[in-house]
Amino acid sequence: MATAVENNFCSLENYLVLPDTSMDVRIAAAREALGEECVVLGHHYQRDEVIRFSDFQGDSYRLSQQAARAKGKYIVFCGVHFMAESADVLARPGQTVILPDLNAGCSMADMAEIGQVEDAWEQFVKLGITDDAGNGMTPITYMNSTAAIKAFCGERNGVVCTSSNARGAFDWAFAKTPKVFFLPDQHLGRNTGYAMGIPLKDMVVWDPYMPMGGQTADRLRAAKVILWKGHCSVHQRFLPEHVDKVRAKYPGIKVIAHPECRWEVCQKADALGSTDVIRKFVADQPAGSAIAIGTEIHLINRLAKQHPDKTVITLDDSGCLCTTMFRISPQHLCWALENLVDGNIVNQIKVKDRDKKWAKVALDRMLEIQ
Ligand code: SF4
Repeated sequence: MATAVENNFCSLENYLVLPDTSMDVRIAAAREALGEECVVLGHHYQRDEVIRFSDFQGDSYRLSQQAARAKGKYIVFCGVHFMAESADVLARPGQTVILPDLNAGCSMADMAEIGQVEDAWEQFVKLGITDDAGNGMTPITYMNSTAAIKAFCGERNGVVCTSSNARGAFDWAFAKTPKVFFLPDQHLGRNTGYAMGIPLKDMVVWDPYMPMGGQTADRLRAAKVILWKGHCSVHQRFLPEHVDKVRAKYPGIKVIAHPECRWEVCQKADALGSTDVIRKFVADQPAGSAIAIGTEIHLINRLAKQHPDKTVITLDDSGCLCTTMFRISPQHLCWALENLVDGNIVNQIKVKDRDKKWAKVALDRMLEIQ
């Protein structure tokens, strides 16, 4: 687990009442004063008022690469907690990672607790599926997990993956073991396995709240992939009927879904991909085309603005918003930056040394996989 160090140098409360209109000038001035000492990273799901101040924008994979290359003393991460943890793991000694709002968490990452995962693994070892070191089954965790889970995988010959390189991580794992244990997003794991030709019957779900994960010993032994029962509360809202509805309303529309969406939705889509793949897909469509996207609404709205010659819409009219990403406001960013200008570090994200060591092993392996 990471510890977060919260300070009260310039009180956040005083910032939260400031009008949005005053933020642009103040954030720009703080960025100017900090110069190359500070790099701001922005995830694609951040709102426009925040992401426009980032030096680098990307999905969690690209941003983790940027964090590993960052030269400045401070890395201010406009994203969610697990991303800032990964940045701290990859940062060099002397670099400090800051998350402008400590409440920016991730419901998916919270669905896999280290105690539950260790307990499941102990049961796999007792069943003879693997030994403790992962000779028998490779643990892979999606980037959207705590540093402790990443460390768990690193220590057992496993790896971290993102939606950009999940397929590569599966190939890497199956080259050394006949089975994969995938955490915490069952949908990304299932969609990736299925795309590789693994039938659904060979992928079972481990429910941490059920005795023996809700499975039998035989099913666990026979499975090629054991999927943790976790999901993204944003992407799971997209349903197959949403695809039918947009296709009926906009004949010829192209549908692209993030692989955190349910398998049934992904099967009906024309394409699947990470946020970077989605951006490229939209850019590659000819003028006049219509595209429906199954992902977070801020990215979709931004793409619609960037491509006024195309109709870019969400797959679900109710608009799927990541409320935790949304917690980072311009006021939070301004507060974090102006404190840095004054020499105060607020909201530092610091991963425990032991977790850092093994999480780095798993993340370094990931950075080598395309
Ligand atoms: S979109 Fe889903 S997986 Fe991504 S940060 Fe939000 S809750 Fe987590």
